Formats: sequence, structure tokens, C-alpha cells
Amino acid sequence: MKTYKIAAVNGDGVGHEIVPAGMQIIEAAAKKHGFKVESETLLYGAGHYLKHGAFLPDDGLEKLQEFDAVLFGAVGLPEVDDRLPFKDFTNLVRTAFKQYVNYRPVKLFDGLKSPLRNKGQEDIDFVIIRENNEGEFVQSGRTMYGDTPEGFAIDTNIFTKVGTRRIAKYAFELARKRRKHVTNVTKSNTMIHTLTLWDNTIEEVAADYPDVEYRKMYIDAASANFVLHPEYFDVVLTTNMLGDILSDLGGAIMGSLGLGGSGNICPERNFPSMFEPIHGSAPDIMGQNKANPIGQFWSAALLLDHLGEKEAAADIMKAINKVTASGTLTAELGGTATTTEITAAALTALA
Ligand code: NAD
Repeated sequence: MKTYKIAAVNGDGVGHEIVPAGMQIIEAAAKKHGFKVESETLLYGAGHYLKHGAFLPDDGLEKLQEFDAVLFGAVGLPEVDDRLPFKDFTNLVRTAFKQYVNYRPVKLFDGLKSPLRNKGQEDIDFVIIRENNEGEFVQSGRTMYGDTPEGFAIDTNIFTKVGTRRIAKYAFELARKRRKHVTNVTKSNTMIHTLTLWDNTIEEVAADYPDVEYRKMYIDAASANFVLHPEYFDVVLTTNMLGDILSDLGGAIMGSLGLGGSGNICPERNFPSMFEPIHGSAPDIMGQNKANPIGQFWSAALLLDHLGEKEAAADIMKAINKVTASGTLTAELGGTATTTEITAAALTALA
């Protein structure tokens, strides 16, 4: 029997509730579809930092590399400097494991109403492909003279041809399997150096895909169109920071941040890929059994799809749709169901 090794990294906050729920879904899907999962929970994150002074142990990355994939929650706690979770965990893993694709689908689940009046399932169905290893988030910069009148700070954006080309190729290949449309969301009219290189490189790649329609759109217009015309989008190709922001907007038009799943993917498969909901650790609702686990379930489905278990992944998506269609919803969607109840309903639907 095929066996997959999966690391469960709860992270912090609601991660301790939704990652175990996500693992239950994966195990149920494995049982139904005839494969095995060996999992280990690794307690990396801000909690680990508070106890040991680091988000993960010295051999943490080596340990993660032993797995076929990682199911991750989110990191960050109010009592820990919030500049650390990204630098010392999320971005560390994304870059060390060359997970240069951040795959963030946006779709309206059965029975749910988008906050966008008059927009339904036929209008809201696209994927954001966010460049995940460079761009605005490389954290190269410096601060001088502290909090004095002379104080100044610099952050450098780094865009490489290689980095832009590989993410663009991924987006165009994906578009070929979808509705054959790529929108490059950019801001090259003001970020005239880096984003001109970005646009030009993408246009070179677009020329290799004459069957895929290509369009360029500035981030300001794209934000408006996410709300007014989500049906304009199929594959949205964008930079690290612009994609980070747009995907929360994507979550919002689905109805809740708690619904969005995502994958940090190393397409070459030299390293494990990592799957996580689009939201953060939601410390305001942690420990209350209130967190919506659906974004984690969607991430679990993306993980199984990545491992080649397509039917199991599709089955999880069907189960999620059954739950949302039945009106079993968490509080932020106007329901009364707990994390545990949504999980039980999804497990029943899956069975
Ligand atoms: P957040 O996404 O954690 O929360 C924003 C709002 O959405 C909150 O009101 C929260 O209750 C709600 N929400 C989030 N997930 C939900 C769910 N599953 N069900 C129901 N409601 C949900 O964003 P934030 O408050 O800006 O950040 C909190 C912490 O998370 C910070 O420390 C931040 O750095 C960290 N963070 C981590 C990641 C990551 O690890 N990838 C991503 C984003 C934020």
C-alpha cells in the first residue's frame, strides 16, 4: 500500500485546533482511497520560540525534509514580536524548500453567498498564483539612526528573470488546464524598475503560450475588479506582496478568510511542499472551538492532489461542499457550529 509521510505543523493559535482536524480528514480520505499516512506533529512556531528562543530547532528544516508534504496552520502570537513569524518560519521554509509557487484558489462553496451582491458560483472561480520566494518580501534592507529625526529605513525588492520566468511558466501551464486566461497583476507604472522586468519577462513567456489569453492589469484596478467583476479572472499571476493582499480579498469574496486553502509548492519536487489556510493564527478566537476548519481541509485536499491522490482530494472538496450546502456553518459565516462539529460533519460527508 502506498504510504505518505506527512508533517503536521500546528503553528500557533487556532492552528492547534484546525491542523489536527485537517489530519483527521486526510486519514479518513486515506482509509477510503486505499493509501496510508504516517504523520508526526511538530510543534514549531511562536510557542516554540517562547520556550526555546527559536521558531524551530536547529535541525528543524532537516527534520521537515524527511516528509513528503507538510500540513501547516499559521504562526504568530500576540506576545511575540510579529516581525518574526514570517522571517523565522514561514518564509524560511518557503525559500529553503524552493516553494516558489503560492497557489491560492478562490471559489464559492455550495450554499454560501458571497458578500458580493449578484455574484454566484459561476462568477467566482479563479486561482491566484503568487510568486513566493522573492519580490517585496526578501527582507533585504536596513534601518539607521533609530527613532530619531534622522531615522531612515530601506527595504529592497528583488525580482530576477529566473524567478519571474519560472512562476510565469507555472501560471500559463495551469491556465492551459483551466479556462486559458492569465491576468498579470502588476504595478509597473510606478515600480518602474523591478516590475518592468517582471512584466517583460511574463510577456516573453506569454509568447510561448499563444493558446492562452494574456492580460496585464494594475493592482489598483485589479482590486476593484475582484469586487465588481470577479468573473474576469481565471489565473491571476502576481508578486509576493500583491498576492498576499489579493488573496485575503479573495477569501473575503468567498465569504470568510477561514475558507481559503493554499499550497506553497516546489514544482520540481526536490523538497516537500507545504499546505496552509490563507489566514493567520487568529489569536482572538484561539482555544474557543470557533475557528472555521474548511480552509485547512481545502489545504489538505491540495496536499493530497499534489501527492497524486486526485480522487481523495476531489472527495474532500465534495465533502466540504456538502457541509456548506447543509448550512452547518461557523460563527463568522452566521452559523453556530463549532470547529469540532464542522469536522464531524465533513468526516460523515466523506464517509
Ligand atoms: P488572522 O488571519 O489570524 O485573523 C484575521 C481575522 O480573521 C480575525 O478576526 C480572525 O478571528 C479571523 N479568522 C482567521 N481565521 C479564521 C478561521 N479559520 N475561522 C474564523 N475566523 C477566522 O490575521 P491577523 O489577526 O492579522 O494575524 C494574527 C497572527 O497571525 C499574527 O501574528 C500574524 O503575523 C499571523 N499570520 C500568520 C500567517 C502564517 O503563518 N502564514 C499568515 C497571516 C498572519
